[in-house]
Amino acid sequence: MAVRTDRGIVIRLTEFSETSQIVSLFTADAGQVRLIAKGSRRGTKTRVAIGLDLLELGELSYAPARQHAGLGTLAEWVQRGTFPGLRREMLRLYCGLYAAELVGVLTEQDDPHASLYDALLALLGELDDFEGNSQEHAAGALVRFQMELLIAIGYQPNLRNCVTCGRPRPPRAAAYFGSAAGGLLCRDCQTAQTEKRKVRGNLLDAKLGTGDARGWFELLDYHLSHVAGRGFRTAGRLKQMLPPRRRAT
Ligand SMILES: [Zn+2]
Repeated sequence: MAVRTDRGIVIRLTEFSETSQIVSLFTADAGQVRLIAKGSRRGTKTRVAIGLDLLELGELSYAPARQHAGLGTLAEWVQRGTFPGLRREMLRLYCGLYAAELVGVLTEQDDPHASLYDALLALLGELDDFEGNSQEHAAGALVRFQMELLIAIGYQPNLRNCVTCGRPRPPRAAAYFGSAAGGLLCRDCQTAQTEKRKVRGNLLDAKLGTGDARGWFELLDYHLSHVAGRGFRTAGRLKQMLPPRRRAT
C-alpha cells in the first residue's frame, strides 16, 4: 500500500519490544492511526532513533494497516513541536494526557476529525503557554476541548432546556443532568430518570468553562465516561489538581 504523509500528535505509546513501540497518533487527515515504530528506541549509525514522546507534534510518513483495526508501520517521524511549557506543571501535563486519552478512547481509527485535530493542537498550545495562561485558563481550555470532542462525535449535551419537556432552565435554578437523556432534566422530568446527577444553577449560569472549571470538568467528564462506557485513567488525578471553585461564585 502506498505510503501516506500527514501531521499528527502522539496520543499513546506502548513498548512493544526491546527496540520497537506501538504509537497511536491523532492525525490531521486520517484521524487516529495506530502504527508500529520499529527501531524507535534505538538509533543506528545510519539512522537517528525516532524517539517518540507523548503529546508531541510531528510530520509522519507511514504505511497504513492492511486491515481495519490493524497496525500500520511508521516510516518516518519529524518532530515539529514538543510543548515544553506543558511539562512544567503537573496540572498542564495531566490536562494534555486527559485530552489525549479522550481522543484515543472516543474516536475510531481512520475516522478523520479535522476540527477536533485543530482543537487538540490549540489546547496543547494553550497549556504550553506557562507564562501567559493561568491554571484557571488552562482548566477552562480543557473544558472547552471536552465539549469540542462531544460535538465532534455527536454527543453534544443540551445545557439550556429540559431534554424531555423542552422548558428552558430559569436563571440560577439547579437542574439535573442525564447523560443517556442527552442533557438537562427539569425538576418534574428528572423523577422518571434513574441515571442523572444534580447540577448547581450558578455553574450553568456561567459561560462554558468559566467560573468553576472543576465543576464543568466533572459534569462533562461524567457525560464522556457514560458515552465511553468507562471512566478515564487520568481523570482521578486531574480532578484533584484542578483549581477548586471560588466561594464567591
Ligand atoms: Zn422537563
